[in-house]
Amino acid sequence: MKDNNGSLSDLIRRALASQIDLGLGEAIVGRTRSSAAEMSFGQPQVSKVVSVVDLFDKPAAQSAPQFPSLTAHREAVCNCQLCPLGQTRNKFVYGVGHDRAEVMFIGEAPGAEEDRLGEPFVGRAGQLLDKILAAIQLSRQQVYIANILKCRPPGNRDPIPDEMNKCFPYLKEQIRIIRPKIICALGRVAAQALLGTSTPLGKLRKRWHEYEGVPMIITYHPAALLRFPAYKKDTWEDVQMLRARLDELK
Ligand code: SF4
Repeated sequence: MKDNNGSLSDLIRRALASQIDLGLGEAIVGRTRSSAAEMSFGQPQVSKVVSVVDLFDKPAAQSAPQFPSLTAHREAVCNCQLCPLGQTRNKFVYGVGHDRAEVMFIGEAPGAEEDRLGEPFVGRAGQLLDKILAAIQLSRQQVYIANILKCRPPGNRDPIPDEMNKCFPYLKEQIRIIRPKIICALGRVAAQALLGTSTPLGKLRKRWHEYEGVPMIITYHPAALLRFPAYKKDTWEDVQMLRARLDELK
């Protein structure tokens, strides 16, 4: 029992620490398939809202150094070995696009092609994203595209909390430098990480959120559209909302 309790405490602490670094003042642990507690024990072990602001001194992301440009930031972090994915990646996948983009698209992590080429959203999912952009009169050169993780999880598995915890400050700095007018989260993992929630993707769509004051909309990951083409209609509606808001802001 002692070992189990110790493991549970450790898992909860890691989950909370992860959610703090994702910008939360509060954290919800349990009730979701991806929570650390449930992944380990099969059933939710904790199900309550926990105030975490008093448990830790300061989120690591708040004390992260700031950089004058994306180029300087990329050069500073491209050899990162903060988590084990640094050992297994082929290429560090920082991001691509305009360094003053009005719209920033954020996915979850590089896949095999991205890992090979060092660029996010290439391959079939990337081509589909390009078509989605074209449908709302945007191009890859006009927007910025990045992921929560900069290195590929082996076998394209979901990122784990510790990896997101370590990597999220890089994305946060990219957003600070670019200062987009709108963020579009692509898929469940990116949406939940940016919002610090375990709410299912379906309940997050069709409305506006905010990430640190930036309007944020959520839609399906292009890879999901390749598997489930029926979601394309919903995605079309989401990006039309994005286009209309962008026009309003102009
Ligand atoms: S995934 Fe992020 S934290 Fe992990 S090694 Fe790569 S850059 Fe570093």
